[in-house]
Amino acid sequence: MTLKDVRAKLNVINKTVEEHLDFLLEIRQDEQLYKDDIDEIGEMADDVLSTLTKHSDLLRSPAGGEKDWVCEKCGKSTFETDYDYLVHPTLHLGCALKEEEQMENFAQELQKTDPGHQPC
Ligand SMILES: [Zn+2]
Repeated sequence: MTLKDVRAKLNVINKTVEEHLDFLLEIRQDEQLYKDDIDEIGEMADDVLSTLTKHSDLLRSPAGGEKDWVCEKCGKSTFETDYDYLVHPTLHLGCALKEEEQMENFAQELQKTDPGHQPC
């Protein structure tokens, strides 16, 4: 399984749980009417919870270990950072962008102080 696949699956689980929560919010007035559904959702929740609990130790040892999840630019942990904000496990997206900006500024500064090297 690829990381992308696993993330997609977890997102589906998230979405499904949210839908069940929405459903339970809607039926709070008719609890007796939907008793079977509530029981079934309760069983699903038990199963999901016990499975999650069984694997919760994984969170403490991701690939390479938490100590390796450190940004090479700012030296801060990337462990708690969402994947959307990482270039890779050892580089924040923000840090990568910042460096790109600094390189651009550096190039501009260089052109100002040393215009002789500009193509003409
Ligand atoms: Zn960083």
